[in-house]
Amino acid sequence: MHPLAKLDQRFVWHPFTQMRDWQQREPLVIASGRGAVLRDVKGREYLDANASIWTNLHGHQHPKINAAIGRQLKKISHSSALGLANEPASLLAARLIEIANTRIPIPHPGHRAGGRLSSPFAMKNPSLAKVFFSDDGSTALEVALKLAYEFTRRTRGPQTRPQFLSLAGAYHGDTIGAVSLGHIDLFHQAYGGMLFATDQAMAPYCYRCPFNQAKPERADARKYRKCQWECVGQVAKQFAAQTKKGNPYAGFVFEPLMQGAAGMIPQPSGWLTQVTQIARSYGALLIADEVMTGFGRTGISCHVGEKTMAQLAANPPVAKLFATQRVGITPDFLCVAKGLTGGYLPMAATLTTQRVFDAFLGKYEEFKTFFHGHSFTGNQLGAAAALASLDLLATKTSVRQRARLQKQLYTELQTLWALPTVGDIRQVGLVAGVELVRNWRTRRPFALRDRAGIRVCEAMARRGVLTRPVGNVIVLMPPYCTTPEQLHQMVAALAASVAELQ
Ligand code: PMP
Repeated sequence: MHPLAKLDQRFVWHPFTQMRDWQQREPLVIASGRGAVLRDVKGREYLDANASIWTNLHGHQHPKINAAIGRQLKKISHSSALGLANEPASLLAARLIEIANTRIPIPHPGHRAGGRLSSPFAMKNPSLAKVFFSDDGSTALEVALKLAYEFTRRTRGPQTRPQFLSLAGAYHGDTIGAVSLGHIDLFHQAYGGMLFATDQAMAPYCYRCPFNQAKPERADARKYRKCQWECVGQVAKQFAAQTKKGNPYAGFVFEPLMQGAAGMIPQPSGWLTQVTQIARSYGALLIADEVMTGFGRTGISCHVGEKTMAQLAANPPVAKLFATQRVGITPDFLCVAKGLTGGYLPMAATLTTQRVFDAFLGKYEEFKTFFHGHSFTGNQLGAAAALASLDLLATKTSVRQRARLQKQLYTELQTLWALPTVGDIRQVGLVAGVELVRNWRTRRPFALRDRAGIRVCEAMARRGVLTRPVGNVIVLMPPYCTTPEQLHQMVAALAASVAELQ
């Protein structure tokens, strides 16, 4: 066994990992990466088919991000945000506000229609106006939750006990607040005694929806579903019932367009608009978790899959970076992490409105301060990487690359319908989930203890492709730099590994 693997087995405790299994085989030790390729200490190469747990956007060792971090290193790596401002964090906050508000560009001198806004100050009353930096997805949610809680008590009265609604199957991170918002029993049940109660709303899981009358077909269940939007009706009822109790929901927490760790569950077109309108009509704050979906992951436009490459090249689609923007929703809180730094460094941000910010203003002795902060808040290296990543996302090359990748992913995935253990193939932009079942005609699932997802991923690794399952759902989330050949290899490895499944 490689000496580094030995050290790992002796001393490291891995996340979400049964360590008894881990200790029974030599772990893969990653030594380097370039583009979509990871290389281990033995010189073997693998394709990074889940973008290093959904973080990496432009590939590993991107020269522009490397250079930006290098330039920042020569100035300073870290100084505290408690009592001090710094250059890259100030620039990044302004950029995040700019890109998060481009849904409603207000024309101003020098601004060309359809062009990029030159400065956040060009926008009158931007809906999202303030940025609170933290370290990861969990803390981004934790910040949103605390702010929403306190904002509600300050606006509805200190006796209020703010109540939150999140989606069935939700996963928002592993800190106690984020776990309280989650509804995956396997992960969250053990900590029940430490959590505060939140309610769960029906998630629009068309493939397994009890209201969907359609028989299984060889297509994405959203496309052939037969229902009357009962799921939306359920959410409406829940809001009405909570309001009747005299304590309307303070906040509605959701991943827009696709729930990730819930099992790559995509929302049928129109669902998000309807439920957020309902939430708003009952006065709930909208808390959008774009930790997975942010920074272009949900794709370029809904119709890219149907266009030819020539059409796409002639008329490049507009690249909205957030899923909420894709459907024209402005949340009160927008939580981002993972891809913020291009997947290079741990950094997160919670964007919110002037209205929320103002509720925390007062004389020092009123103690309205937001008493929350982490040692590495606003870290310079992370912010420098994030600025470089945002520059890359804005280039025509990146937009074209993502459109091509999204289209090819769609085309390649269609070949998997030939496999009888593929039940549903769900793609939103540059994220795909393939749900494995015992029999596609009955949708009969594999039991978790069958480890079908894990076995398929192990077989893919033997074919040089790395990803992790979510239960029985295999995730493909390639870095945006993935070449056509590499993407083909990822899907071919998936197909061959699923075909072996007993
Ligand atoms: N929200 C979502 C939607 C996530 O997918 C994740 C992580 N998978 C988190 C929050 C938590 O992020 P982190 O692991 O960076 O704390």
